[in-house]
Amino acid sequence: MSSPADLLDIDSELSDSELATRDRVREFVDRRIRPNIARWFADAHFPQELVPELGELGLLGMHLTGYGCAGRSAVEYGLAIQELEAGDSGIRTFVSVQGSLAMSAIHKHGSEAQKQRWLPRMATGEVVGCFGLTEPGAGSDPASMTTRARFEPGSAGGEGGEWVLDGAKRWIGMASFADIAIIWAKVSEHQDDGSERDRVRGFIVPTSTPGFSAVPIEPKLSMRASVQCDITLEDVRVPPDALLPENPGLSGPFVCLDEARYGIVWGAVGAARDAFEDTLAYAQGREQFGTPIAGFQLTQAKLVDMALEITKAQLMALRLGRLKDAGRLEGYMISAGKLNNARIAIDVCREARTVLGGNGVTLDHSPMRHANNLESVRTYEGTDEVHTLVLGRHITGLAAFR
Ligand SMILES: Cc1cc2nc3c(=O)[nH]c(=O)nc-3n(C[C@H](O)[C@H](O)[C@H](O)COP(=O)(O)OP(=O)(O)OC[C@H]3O[C@@H](n4cnc5c(N)ncnc54)[C@H](O)[C@@H]3O)c2cc1C
Repeated sequence: MSSPADLLDIDSELSDSELATRDRVREFVDRRIRPNIARWFADAHFPQELVPELGELGLLGMHLTGYGCAGRSAVEYGLAIQELEAGDSGIRTFVSVQGSLAMSAIHKHGSEAQKQRWLPRMATGEVVGCFGLTEPGAGSDPASMTTRARFEPGSAGGEGGEWVLDGAKRWIGMASFADIAIIWAKVSEHQDDGSERDRVRGFIVPTSTPGFSAVPIEPKLSMRASVQCDITLEDVRVPPDALLPENPGLSGPFVCLDEARYGIVWGAVGAARDAFEDTLAYAQGREQFGTPIAGFQLTQAKLVDMALEITKAQLMALRLGRLKDAGRLEGYMISAGKLNNARIAIDVCREARTVLGGNGVTLDHSPMRHANNLESVRTYEGTDEVHTLVLGRHITGLAAFR
């Protein structure tokens, strides 16, 4: 059924198969997430039992082809992500980290053997992955990372040898229960002119490797139904085939981030829509001064502004999805969608909270929980400011950052 926040019948732009995907995930969210999310959020609990169920629904690596992945279109992936985030951004974040970041890294940059080994089990949820790019001192500027990897050759110059990783990562989703971590590290490479140059390379690191530790960052005021960690890497030794061979350098993690950002364009609208629908229902039932508060002009102005922003954001998501499916999506367009949709979503959720009055600050209602989650959404995968700079560079031709 169409949401009252869909003022332009955008649903009619979706195919039967797209609508079926959306409805399947919506049903899952209604059954498995909505009844429990307030408790999970209050207890700062990520429900790991959902992982195989998300795999069974085909949501892990949903947009990837082969290796047990569902191979669905960008629009179907976006619609699924949107429904998940209508449930909670924390649950959606798990799917993004697993599929758009960890699995994408292997799918885009891995060897055939690495893909065969890891992707089918990641698609079912049997193996959980995390993606370690950010560091305590390197967030918006990942080029300044200090985690390093060096290769120690085997004895007598023969076969073997191992990579040794040292460093620290921060804010790494799922790291405390993940089975493998994609770790991005600088490697010093010998150049033809005799000099040495650093290049960012990716490694598949089993989290059981000695020297790898992950500690959840607590307490958090955002994404409470999700886990982010500090990772320490101390003399972590992995075999030569842990290296992702096809990774071109720093653009390696960036192309994975683009996948995750694309998901956020859709997901943020889901959180905003859920906050709007919760608030609309409340406003229609709650009476003050002898009339439903939805009948007051000031409340209607708020609801109308919310619905307008949600409708525009949904058009943006659908346009980006169609461009992606046509192979015409550019990086700056993803920045436009991520910046706009995360920004309007947080504004919608905050405004929705005001309509709920005092009841809006409890976990009985979703807007404040969503707004808190969206503080993270507007920060990760490039902050509002970074995407503004990307768009500024696109429009002016002048980079205000490196
Ligand atoms: C819940 C959550 C989950 C996350 N999950 C992961 C994950 O799984 N893997 C991972 O690798 N990372 C993850 N991150 C990290 C996230 O990507 C970083 O937090 C983000 O890139 C910002 O980096 P920072 O926090 O170090 O902030 P900083 O880079 O220190 O930025 C602080 C402020 O300075 C501004 N700023 C920085 N540079 C400029 C500039 N040139 N011009 C103007 N303003 C600027 C920023 O926009 C921001 O407002 C996660 C973060 C959160 C909160």
